[in-house]
Amino acid sequence: MRDFDFDLFVIGAGSGGVRASRIAASHGARVAVAEEYRVGGTCVIRGCVPKKMLVYGAHFAEDLADARRFGWDVPDCAFDWKVLRDNVLADVDRLNGLYQQTLDGNKVTTFHERARISGPNEVILASGKTVSAGTILIATGSWPIIPDIPGAEHGITSNEVFHLDALPKRVAIAGGGYIANEFAGIFNELGSEVTLVNRSDQILRGYDEQIRDKLVEISTAKGITFRLNAPFERVEKAADGTLTLHVKGGDSIVCDMLIFATGRKPMSFDLGLESVGVAMKDNGAIIVDDYNRTNMPGIYAVGDVTDRVQLTPVAIREGHAFADTVFGNNPRTVDYDCIPSAVFSHPPIAGVGMTESEARKQLGDVKVYTSDFRAMKNVLAGRNERSLYKMICDAQTGRVVGLHMIGPDAPEILQAAAVAVKAGLTKQAFDDTMALHPSMAEELVLLK
Ligand code: NDP
Repeated sequence: MRDFDFDLFVIGAGSGGVRASRIAASHGARVAVAEEYRVGGTCVIRGCVPKKMLVYGAHFAEDLADARRFGWDVPDCAFDWKVLRDNVLADVDRLNGLYQQTLDGNKVTTFHERARISGPNEVILASGKTVSAGTILIATGSWPIIPDIPGAEHGITSNEVFHLDALPKRVAIAGGGYIANEFAGIFNELGSEVTLVNRSDQILRGYDEQIRDKLVEISTAKGITFRLNAPFERVEKAADGTLTLHVKGGDSIVCDMLIFATGRKPMSFDLGLESVGVAMKDNGAIIVDDYNRTNMPGIYAVGDVTDRVQLTPVAIREGHAFADTVFGNNPRTVDYDCIPSAVFSHPPIAGVGMTESEARKQLGDVKVYTSDFRAMKNVLAGRNERSLYKMICDAQTGRVVGLHMIGPDAPEILQAAAVAVKAGLTKQAFDDTMALHPSMAEELVLLK
């Protein structure tokens, strides 16, 4: 190993890459990481973290309105996008610094430039310098997909949305997944006119149907327009900057800003992977085994670039498991069973385990318990917005195989409940647990 410049060269300093670098270094490896943009990756720089801050910022629209019902004399408030944007971006800078400190503190060498693989144990940096390493880890993440339609260049993606000069008056969001629903909620709360346009007749594929329906119902009541079954045909830009999104079989959508939120593809292009024979799927996903090994010895991949589960905590666990396996003499794999996930819409959705239809398909005999209730805070606020909690159980054993919810703080509540689902607890175990009253979460132990 000592013949190489480094024991490990990581391409990409995002969630998976930084964790792998830090842990490998703590096991005594000499580590270098290359990052062409900013240390921290999508989640920290232009994803989960700044998005969540915008979600908080946006929710004040409801909180300020509701406060009046709780006795507060709230004057008419104005919202200043630039203040929120700049504060969020300043916090992103802070986190970017902390991530860099983590690398420096663990004696990881950072190259702030693009790297490509140039041989089985070699990378070439944008500056032309070549560096050798015993092991190479690809952790380059993913990139927004923009549909191949005429005029698509007039739209933006989640990459640009954090830097807007002003809020759009009318925004169309193309796509019906995580990013589309989260930004639909943010812009709607902040006062934009929002239209969510999706090619199929459903949003949030993979989430429980009843929960998704509830989100559409609540979002529609809040003013978001849904245009489903509307495949995009082309985008036109008028001289005054107005955009028109033409869709198949329906009226076109006129807007001031169009955001494409139509999935993310693995960032495996132009990395020199073909030159060393790393196998990839048609969509560019690097094929790896349970130990994150590609088909080429000494080359590994973790995170979104492998397109297994495009979630930050998963990439982090994969990076950690890789480093323990290769440099810590502790071979281990990631457990992908029961991964909780959430959509930070208004209100948010969270789920873990099987949806009702998945459970019916896999188990046949299932028991479903639901609670459709209005949170106490919404009652006093006069807000006619109901929550839905849903528990899916194996009818034979009583084991909880899925838990899905929409309502205030659903992700916070579900993270704790996911422990019980992951542990294989039964409905009886929930029933045996005393309710914590008054709370929304107590509905979980009171399901009939
Ligand atoms: P999603 O995969 O969630 O949704 C993609 C949407 O775009 C779907 O509605 C899909 O339609 C539609 N779509 C896909 N391809 C095309 C196409 N070629 N033309 C038109 N429509 C298309 O992707 P996102 O971009 O929202 O998010 C990417 C990933 O990032 C997510 O899968 C998630 O893993 C992660 N993420 C996680 C978040 C969280 O944890 N809260 C937040 C944001 C992102 P249909 O399904 O109808 O076919």
